[in-house]
Amino acid sequence: KKRDPHEVEFHQAVEEIFESLVLVFAKYPELIGKGLLERLVEPERVITFRVSWVDDQGKTQVNRGFRVQFNSAIGPYKGGLRFHPSVNTSVAKFLGFEQIFKNSLTGQQIGGGKGGSDFDPKGKSDGEVMRFTQSFMTELSKHIGSDVDVPAGDIGVGAREIGYLFGQYKRMHGKFEPGVLTGKGLEYGGSLVRPQATGYGVIYFVEEMLKDKGLSLKGQTVVVSGSGNVSTYAIEKATELGAKVVACSDSNGYIYDESGLNLDTIIQLKEIDRARISEYVIEHPTAKYVEGCSDIWSLPCDIALPCATQNEIDGSAAKSLVLGGVKAVGEGANMPSSQEAIDIFLKNGILFGPGKAANAGGVAVSSLEMAQNKSGVSWTFEEVDRKLHEIMEDIFQRCLTASEEYGHPGNLVIGANIAAFNKVSKAMLAQGVI
Ligand code: NDP
Repeated sequence: KKRDPHEVEFHQAVEEIFESLVLVFAKYPELIGKGLLERLVEPERVITFRVSWVDDQGKTQVNRGFRVQFNSAIGPYKGGLRFHPSVNTSVAKFLGFEQIFKNSLTGQQIGGGKGGSDFDPKGKSDGEVMRFTQSFMTELSKHIGSDVDVPAGDIGVGAREIGYLFGQYKRMHGKFEPGVLTGKGLEYGGSLVRPQATGYGVIYFVEEMLKDKGLSLKGQTVVVSGSGNVSTYAIEKATELGAKVVACSDSNGYIYDESGLNLDTIIQLKEIDRARISEYVIEHPTAKYVEGCSDIWSLPCDIALPCATQNEIDGSAAKSLVLGGVKAVGEGANMPSSQEAIDIFLKNGILFGPGKAANAGGVAVSSLEMAQNKSGVSWTFEEVDRKLHEIMEDIFQRCLTASEEYGHPGNLVIGANIAAFNKVSKAMLAQGVI
């Protein structure tokens, strides 16, 4: 905090994890003095760069690009790129830090990294997005590679942006290297289920939390925030498993459809028309649109799935959810609940699946995409989906077991942090002081 006093998101992420790790150091005091925590919070490398591009009016624009290569103890850096005006060093570091632990939980050989830009793709033409993205990759391409650092998508970076990024990387390096990015189109090395993976994974994780208490998704009322990649497929899978999803949002407001959301309309609006979620009510006039998105958590529901962005559930939203009868919360987004909100959920006995465990399905399938690229094969949808399901069950069990071993049975925040740390710290110790 003394070194970087303005990095509030990063400090929040570190504090949440360190609170759990106190238990590890109490149990294994021999770990003290090895500089593990000091090394963990210091990224191996932070790259920032200028991204200049020309807009449709012929005016030169300048944005800032970031790549935080946080920790490579268990594999090459792996983590998404976010294009959103709020991206800065603190946000890139918090996401990269979380990614170390998430990637460890997947059981795959991937280290932690993250990046992006303060570029806002909203309202930009296709040509502008392409020119920006090509300029961004011109610099980023010097720092990544299939065994070095493998970026993917995140907020504002979907199939279109990954395509442009891949094309520019290929142009810069003069070779077709599919393993350098994940989330690619199927025609050029992508994996089936990658678009669905984070959303489906959240639902598989929530299913495990419920199953452990003798419950299921059938008949449950669900509220999802966001209407992007993670939200869309969480809505799809939850509905397929018998739940009724009644609300979702974008950064302007939320829609509430008591009879259950129509996913086709949402996909048409958000993925194809790139329109606002408010337009949902044109086709479904019985639904309601409410301006402003934080009130979405005052809707009564059994299951809440924050799938938009960090800190979207604060203490008062958490209290509203508890009053509204919520039984389980599964974090599709990264750090969507503030520390106060998490404390409220845990104190009230709400089942709580922290992001680094519940949303790890995306990066897990990214890692399966890398494996397919390496071996030159393509697995079927069913095969990848089955592997994703197994990985999510496994992550849940690993978190549960760690929570029990460290005296907090069922506290998956503690379980996830400790299970993830134990693997990374062993790898760091084995590799010496680096
Ligand atoms: P998308 O860009 O596809 O969708 C993001 C959604 O959240 C949009 O509906 C967007 O609304 C809304 N949103 C974004 N920023 C804000 C904000 N500041 N306030 C309110 N709403 C906002 O992103 P993803 O679905 O890929 O990512 C969502 C979350 O999931 C992020 O936290 C990401 O880090 C996390 N995640 C994503 C993974 C993936 O595989 N994609 C993997 C693991 C985690 P609008 O359209 O108005 O911008």
